[in-house]
Amino acid sequence: MIQIPKHVYEKFLRFALENANPLDPRNWKECIGLVLGRITEDEILITDIVPIGSGTAVFVDITDYEKVFSLILPSRINAGEVIVGWAHTHPGLGLFLSGTDIRTQQMYQQMHPKAFALVLDPTKISKNFSGFNIYRLDELRSHPRTVDYYFDEYFDFLASRETLTSELYLVPEVPVIISATEVSWNAINIMLSGDTEIPVNQPLEVKLEINLPFCQFIRVEYQINTENLAEDPFPMQLLHSKTIYHEIISSGTLSIFTFRPKKIKPTYIRIKNLFLSDYQQKLQKMPDLCLKTQIKG
Ligand SMILES: [Zn+2]
Repeated sequence: MIQIPKHVYEKFLRFALENANPLDPRNWKECIGLVLGRITEDEILITDIVPIGSGTAVFVDITDYEKVFSLILPSRINAGEVIVGWAHTHPGLGLFLSGTDIRTQQMYQQMHPKAFALVLDPTKISKNFSGFNIYRLDELRSHPRTVDYYFDEYFDFLASRETLTSELYLVPEVPVIISATEVSWNAINIMLSGDTEIPVNQPLEVKLEINLPFCQFIRVEYQINTENLAEDPFPMQLLHSKTIYHEIISSGTLSIFTFRPKKIKPTYIRIKNLFLSDYQQKLQKMPDLCLKTQIKG
């Protein structure tokens, strides 16, 4: 088993987030570090992850061992710490070892059979999952296998990421209502639009649009209802509901739907249970949006 202390995890996560601003996924960079630790008979205790660099060029550097190992102070090695593996990030890409990663890991395992590769994707973090896997290659050194690890204490991984993110980047917290048909949060705008006067039995086209400061990972969840408030109890009809899981979304139309009023009564088209979450997966409940339409005979 491998043990990792919370402070080491948070140190590497901070390095990962410095190179992957959640609010700017176009400029995410992978980063890499060396893992130091102490090897006992049946355990490896990770003591530190030393950042080496970020970007794509570092993957060439990581195989230049003399250069890489010169970054580690000899005093630390003398204190019983050894290089037990290497760590790198796959921001938004998922957890796996690529072909290049496997070749790098082959060299690490040649130096020490217990050496491992730690891969972290900050977007995979949840309350109960650290967002990383530890890998070693099988006996033939061709297939990656995950290796079990544990932390020196229990904590909420998502809370760690959120704290670090808000330390590094300023994140506004509260949704703002701009008008009855528009709401905004984290510079993300959601807008409901359609005619406010239509003849009875004519289709009314309603559009739900999103405006983002840039393409980004986002999750949107909503339910669109019509309500006829002139009747008691007012009938509510579900028109449409949708969940878009975290996807790279650019500004544009989220959905278009039509509604054909059968009675000459003012009708409300209401978006209920609207949730938005940005890359950090902070799911925010937004206020209801409401479009009032006059129906004419
Ligand atoms: Zn990789």
